[in-house]
Amino acid sequence: MRPLNSATHRLGTENAFTVLARAGQIAAEGHDVINLGIGQPDFRTPPHIVEAGIKALHDGAHGYTPSLGLPDLREAVAADLHNRYGVTPDIRHIQITPGGKPVIFISAMLLGGPENEILVPDPGFPIYQSAINYSGATAVSYGLVEQNGFAFDADDVLSRITDKTSLIIINSPANPTGGATPKSEMDKFVRGLADFPHVTILSDEIYDRFVFDTQPLSLLSYPEISDRLIVLNGWSKTYAMTGWRIGYGIWPERLIDAADRIGVNYHSCVNAPTQFAALAATSGPQDCVSDMCAAFARRAALITELLNDIDGISCVMPRGAFYAFANVSALGMKVDALQNKLLEDYHVAAIAGTSFGAFGEGYLRLSSANSEDAIRQACARLKDMVANL
Ligand code: PLP
Repeated sequence: MRPLNSATHRLGTENAFTVLARAGQIAAEGHDVINLGIGQPDFRTPPHIVEAGIKALHDGAHGYTPSLGLPDLREAVAADLHNRYGVTPDIRHIQITPGGKPVIFISAMLLGGPENEILVPDPGFPIYQSAINYSGATAVSYGLVEQNGFAFDADDVLSRITDKTSLIIINSPANPTGGATPKSEMDKFVRGLADFPHVTILSDEIYDRFVFDTQPLSLLSYPEISDRLIVLNGWSKTYAMTGWRIGYGIWPERLIDAADRIGVNYHSCVNAPTQFAALAATSGPQDCVSDMCAAFARRAALITELLNDIDGISCVMPRGAFYAFANVSALGMKVDALQNKLLEDYHVAAIAGTSFGAFGEGYLRLSSANSEDAIRQACARLKDMVANL
């Protein structure tokens, strides 16, 4: 047999899925595993959304939809963005995708390639780097540091732009750190971009509804970059719909047709009942979102307090999303070994910071998408582990 396309070997993966699978095996052996690993809300999808999906199936929504998604759904997305950010994207620029992830992959396919450099956060969502490597482009990391609350530093990011930079990926609130970039820094970043008109920006706003001590922020609010801005968002986190697989991209005029063409080649359209469920989510009551956000804020405070109570561990208070990024460097152990020991011996799933880039060494990501009781028990086990090191 001829070898695989060599690009295949450049694809990375998401360690969170590997840890999830191992946690499942350990649980199947009869152990009580506490999962603070994978990043998905522990809540169920609100009932009115589930009902809308079921109704769509009963009503015969069994066929293809337009490749960009149902017009009503794209209208609802535009209306939602108008309500929340005062901007109304043209629905021609909105592409409904099977999760938010495809927007990353499509962006890398469109703006990657061997001649280009793409700036990515480190630590950051690992799929950025993987998709960029697959495309043949060079991923250039910019660091997110604890001293800065894991917010990005606009001057630092701008200083890394070269003639070859085609795309900058930013993510706020961020996975894996829970950091959120303040508006003043975003303003500075956008002002600085005026000097680099060749650069497109992908703003991953998948956690924009989960901010705790600050106002939600979207790069859509900056019309001066609207002709070179891609926005990723979706329903997975906001409405506890990770398994439904639905998200969206907002593409500038220059990219929408090409993004659609990749979508048609790859997935045709998102399954129809899921699109009706998403429509019910976006156009229905939003108290489910504020309730979840309040729960994540309470848990963020709880987990931060419990982690800081462990000798050798410190943790800054997350400002959004549902992750705590604990500094465990004083324990003197490589974090992947720490992740494995915690899972194998203490049955707590958490993710080594290095799964998100080299800057993640010395950190452990704990998801607070689990009950307060589970968080307490997990932190007690972690404390035990540290005491026994
Ligand atoms: N972007 C970030 C930063 C994420 O953390 C995730 C999921 O973990 C995604 C995108 C992808 O979300 P989806 O499940 O909608 O594909």
